[in-house]
Amino acid sequence: MLQTLSHAAVIGNELALSFSDGAELYLELPLLRRACPCAACQGEPDALGRVVRPHVEHGPKAFDLVKFEGVGGYGLQLHWADGHGYGIYSYPYLFRLAGL
Ligand SMILES: [Zn+2]
Repeated sequence: MLQTLSHAAVIGNELALSFSDGAELYLELPLLRRACPCAACQGEPDALGRVVRPHVEHGPKAFDLVKFEGVGGYGLQLHWADGHGYGIYSYPYLFRLAGL
């Protein structure tokens, strides 16, 4: 099923999302940042297909969400206060993070 995001807002320490079918997600910002799906955070397979997860340092601004934007109707790109903003979180990935 294709989810359509109808509303998104940062409330306190959480990103609140609601979808056209009535589903709602509340995701803590530190959890979202640690789950950033970009290659710099999650690693890329090397020539042998092994994925070595990089060690990522998170500074004091790493968990402040400054901006988010929809990407192609299937996900959200999150921009963090430390300048990191490469990760595109697909809606299914966000639901998984929320444990749904
Ligand atoms: Zn990242």
